[in-house]
Amino acid sequence: MENEYKPAWALNDEYELLYDLHTHTTYSHGTGSVEDNVREAMNKGLGFIAISDHGPGHLFYGINRNDFAYLKNDIEKMNVKYPKLMVKMSVEANTVHGGNGLDIKPEEFEEFDFVIAGFHFGLFGCSSIRNWLWSHGIRWGEEKLRKKNTEMIIRALRANDIAILTHPGDKGPFDIRAIAEVCAQTNTLMEINCRHDHLTEEEIQIAMEVPGVQFILSSDAHEPGKVGECSVGLERALRAGLNPERIVNIRRRI
Ligand SMILES: [Zn+2]
Ligand SMILES: [Zn+2]
Repeated sequence: MENEYKPAWALNDEYELLYDLHTHTTYSHGTGSVEDNVREAMNKGLGFIAISDHGPGHLFYGINRNDFAYLKNDIEKMNVKYPKLMVKMSVEANTVHGGNGLDIKPEEFEEFDFVIAGFHFGLFGCSSIRNWLWSHGIRWGEEKLRKKNTEMIIRALRANDIAILTHPGDKGPFDIRAIAEVCAQTNTLMEINCRHDHLTEEEIQIAMEVPGVQFILSSDAHEPGKVGECSVGLERALRAGLNPERIVNIRRRI
């Protein structure tokens, strides 16, 4: 019965989630272990999950570089223990202005199955303070900041193989259209994050105007129970008028 239909995780009456590639554990800012997240994904019928803790540059929540080997070991054990679920090792790198544009160096990419990346406060070299002020309503110099932020993201996208751009538009002003154009060129999925409000409905509408851009729903779970919880993101996408076929990790329920 190889082709027997196995239900995945229902997001609403019409769609279900196939995989969740953005989840955190105690290696960074999450509350659960790798196995806690994996078990939750199994319980929800997902076929594929990634552990993507915060990049090591983050001063408060970043994964310790010395823990890469332990994380890899945990993940290998999970793939043996739960052969029906694919577990991959990722990292949510932080975007910065200098170097290769990320806090994961080019020679470190081979440690991971794939790298996802996004903008966060909490490290140097990414206009954290200016963006934090902007997020709290102090918006002088907004256009200059938008230009600088957008350049930071585009540079990171072009200089690295980034699978997913996480919560684009979060925590500062960004030119979503320009970023979407580069995501289409670099085959980078734009994330509809279910823990943060970005992409917002308006940002989805801007990004979906760009041909070739594809989207992914992520829980960005910081606790195991949230793994796979992507209904709010799907609702946001549908309200924006996005064709659900452009979301790579959902399918129609039978
Ligand atoms: Zn994030
Ligand atoms: Zn995250």
